[in-house]
Amino acid sequence: MYDAIILGSGPAGLTASIYTSRAGLKTLVIAGVMWGGQLMLTREVENFPGFENGILGPDLMTTMRKQAERCGAELIFEHASTVDFNSKPFKIVAGNKIYNAKTVIIATGASAKWLGLKSEARLRGRGVSVCATCDGPFFKDKKVVVVGGGDTAMEEALFLSKIVSDVKVIHRRDKLRACKYLQEKAFANSKISFIWNSTITEILGKDRVEGVKLSNIVTKNETVYNCDAVFLAIGYTPNTEIFKNQIELDKTGYIIINEESRTNIDGVFVAGDVADYRYRQAIAAAGSGCKAALDAEKHLLET
Ligand code: NAP
Repeated sequence: MYDAIILGSGPAGLTASIYTSRAGLKTLVIAGVMWGGQLMLTREVENFPGFENGILGPDLMTTMRKQAERCGAELIFEHASTVDFNSKPFKIVAGNKIYNAKTVIIATGASAKWLGLKSEARLRGRGVSVCATCDGPFFKDKKVVVVGGGDTAMEEALFLSKIVSDVKVIHRRDKLRACKYLQEKAFANSKISFIWNSTITEILGKDRVEGVKLSNIVTKNETVYNCDAVFLAIGYTPNTEIFKNQIELDKTGYIIINEESRTNIDGVFVAGDVADYRYRQAIAAAGSGCKAALDAEKHLLET
């Protein structure tokens, strides 16, 4: 029986585990097979306070994990396959074992969306990316495309414009969803231009990206645009599949927060991107992990 089981090992989950274990709560982190969350896929992190010259994402997460372990948290590197929040203690199945918990903190994060093309899967890591910060520097002075019309797409395009020679934004409509400020910045940037009303039907190239096949959804015209990389910025999916029918989710699958870190189930708390479609920052996730841990601790004192 654990006082707190934490699902997820990104900044939210590990911060929560540091707080719960320091508070003397018997803590288990079900870290996932690929532990560490989205920062494991990034390079330089310059906006996490405390590192004057920035830090590599994987180094930050490794340090956080060591800190959690030193504070007494137990970590297992399995995926949780099912949860049962219908009665107490809560039950979580991971790696064919059942774990019992008095409180649960869900910090399973969100994953970037992909187009779902076969060519995209084949060329992933060979020019197809969901992270400009991570992979942009590989394409210095090259031609790249960004897919999407939201805030993330504009931020990725603006970031890439400092590195590459040319950024083409491919959007499926003729209007951007991004906020006015980012739209204006992108329109004013001489390196960024747009292909409207278009979708990618295939990513071209054998071992690396060489171009994209485009279909104009209005004229039905098919064209090819030559480029060296494709950055997808078409949104995120919260990792909440196993919580369906267990906990209240909004229509896009994010966990609904009732008050601070509380969910609709008494004793189940939430932290990080799995409930945050707005900020999606490591420091925000870490802060919410701290809050969820303090709320779980208070809950245990009161029950
Ligand atoms: P988003 O707002 O959902 O935008 C996704 C974009 O991708 C949309 O333009 C959408 O087209 C397009 N898209 C979705 N599926 C597609 C597909 N299969 N093929 C082609 N295009 C597709 O996602 P986001 O930009 O990641 O932003 C998510 C949230 O984070 C938003 O609330 C945003 O405001 C926030 N955010 C804020 C900032 C900031 O304030 N600095 C930065 C980043 C993110 P349609 O427009 O046609 O739907």
